[in-house]
Formats: sequence, C-alpha cells, structure tokens
Amino acid sequence: MINLNCLICKKNETEIFKPLKISFNNYTLVNCKSCSFVYLNPRLSELEIKKYYNQDYMPFLKKKSIFNIVYKIFRKINFIYKFFIITKYIPRKSKNLDIGSGDNFFSNSLLKKGWKSYAYDKYNYDKDNVRKLSILKRNSFDSITLWHSIEHMYDIEQTFTSINKILSSNGFLFIACPNIDAKEIDYVGKNWPAFDLPRHIYHFNYNSMKKFLGNYNLKIINIHNLKIDTFFNILMVKNLNFFQKTKYIIKSLFYQFSNIKKSSTLVYVCQKY
Ligand SMILES: [Zn+2]
Repeated sequence: MINLNCLICKKNETEIFKPLKISFNNYTLVNCKSCSFVYLNPRLSELEIKKYYNQDYMPFLKKKSIFNIVYKIFRKINFIYKFFIITKYIPRKSKNLDIGSGDNFFSNSLLKKGWKSYAYDKYNYDKDNVRKLSILKRNSFDSITLWHSIEHMYDIEQTFTSINKILSSNGFLFIACPNIDAKEIDYVGKNWPAFDLPRHIYHFNYNSMKKFLGNYNLKIINIHNLKIDTFFNILMVKNLNFFQKTKYIIKSLFYQFSNIKKSSTLVYVCQKY
C-alpha cells in the first residue's frame, strides 16, 4: 500500500472521510484537512491494482448475467445523452479523443457516426488505439472526453499535462465522474456503488474539480449531469427493497433538479484559459 499527499494542494494532513466514519473493505477514504479533497489513502500500487481490472470488472464483463445486461442497457442510454451534451459544444464529425476508453464503446459509436474518433486506455491494447498521450501533436483534438475514467487514474498528472498540450485552443474537454456530494450517499452510505474501492482513487465534487483543473490552466465553463446514473447507483445497492429504492431515486432526483451540484454524476465542460 502506498501513502500519498493530496493531489490538489500537495499537503499531507488528512482525516477519515466523515459521512462514513469507518473505513470499509479494508480501505480508507480520507479528506484533505487543507482543501477537503476526498481520496483513497493509502492505495494499492499500480502493479497490485491491475488484477482489479480483469474479466470480472463490469465494463470488461463478457459473460451474460442480469447485471451485465442491465449495465449494457444503461451504457447505451448514457451514450445517447453524452452525444447530446458534446454536440451542444462541438461540431458533429469533428476529431475526438476518448481517454480511459475501456472496450472503446464510446469511440466506436462515434466512428460509426462518421467522426474522427480516437481511443486511449492503459489497459486496452487494441491495435488501433493511441499508445502514448505524450507523443501526440500539440492542438490536435477538437474535443477530449473522459467518461468515468479520471477517478481511476494513477497517472493523472501526466495525463492532464498531455491534455493541455493536445487539446486545441478552442477545443472542449468533457469530464464525467461520480460526485462525492451526490444526494443518494445520505441514503445508501458506504454501499454507494461509485465508491468502487479500491479502483476509484479520487472523489471529486464541483469545488475540488475546479481547483484541480486550475492547476492545468483549464476552466469549467458549464456543468451537466447524467441522471440515469442515479437509477444505476441506487438499483445496484443490494440490501434495499423495491420501495426503498423507488423512494431514494425520487428523492435524489428531486434534489438534483434544485441543485445540480448534488447530482450522482457531474459532466464538466472545460476549456483552456
Ligand atoms: Zn488538499
């Protein structure tokens, strides 16, 4: 296990993340006493974490199961909504790079629609994938997407240095990640699926994302949410009955309508300064 300073302010004074009070599954979430950023500390080494990205990890799951079928349905609906968001900002069929592309579902879907679509994932060695971000040309992408990948990134600092270089000056960066201020955490506590220990090492909210991006000369120009993730996060909790799930979904959706910063998943639309 490896101990780390805060990603954002680099200080090393932390306390246990309060809403959970106890550590769980032998892992401990902490928040930085200085800037309140929530992260997993200590965490597994990069070599040790690799075994948690095997065939049993849901995005890579091949065998048929009810969870897998539900996951694939949610993913298709989410693609439509993600496509709707990005085309508000960038022209159709422009040049996109998807970082943390998993099995390339998003980039392949764009390819089918005629986009110049590229994919990069550390754990996917597909022959057509980008192999290294740092060797890509300056200002070469109209948009870069990170769909639920930033919370996994061991090389987050190098990745964002590359993003700043390869994103065109008028280009857009879209980051979707679980929101540690999500309302449903009040109801489901440590069973919140998006804690996903030990794979999720960073837990952003609007404020910590803004500070983090500022370190790379990137600014948030708008935020959206992925409402379907509220359904997914609550339906996936095993120890709740149907009525509890329905009640928590309705209450969580109600909260995020009045305050988007309480959403399950935030989509940050960013540009360079
Ligand atoms: Zn900090």
